[in-house]
Amino acid sequence: MRVLTFENSCDSEQDRVLRQKAKPVKDINDELRRTLAEMFETMHKDRGVGLAGPQVGLLQRIFVTHAERDQDRVFINPSIIWTSQEQVKFEEGCLSVPGLWADVVRPEKIKVQAWNERGRAFTLEAAGVLSRVIQHEYDHLEGILFMDRLNETARQKFLAKLEKQKQAG
Ligand SMILES: [Zn+2]
Repeated sequence: MRVLTFENSCDSEQDRVLRQKAKPVKDINDELRRTLAEMFETMHKDRGVGLAGPQVGLLQRIFVTHAERDQDRVFINPSIIWTSQEQVKFEEGCLSVPGLWADVVRPEKIKVQAWNERGRAFTLEAAGVLSRVIQHEYDHLEGILFMDRLNETARQKFLAKLEKQKQAG
């Protein structure tokens, strides 16, 4: 099985893929199922909890998750249809921004509607880590990275660290 290559936010050329809006999937077929299997392989290899298409150069509205103590999950053409009023702070990292973490504030609970790899529509209410992973991965489909969700002071600090890391190579 092919191990997919990461788009890395430290690389300005590839960064463009991470900053684009992904396109809806038109057909849930064997080719897509193969891609999803490869995404799981790649995510597990790097001990990630989620991986979205744009992170591996695929501008398709797909992501996979494996939040702690949860099962493997596939989301195709997802929409977040509800978010809780209550917001929580949670430390996030990203396979596309290796080695850096930051506290990000997001709604605690969400409801997401999507299709699975068999083409079946489902609605899922999530809280805790799974809710967090889904929101983070969903952002990737919109070209949004987790540091965009920080307040201006925290974001500037984060970008300075990222720049330092870039220069260290
Ligand atoms: Zn990410």
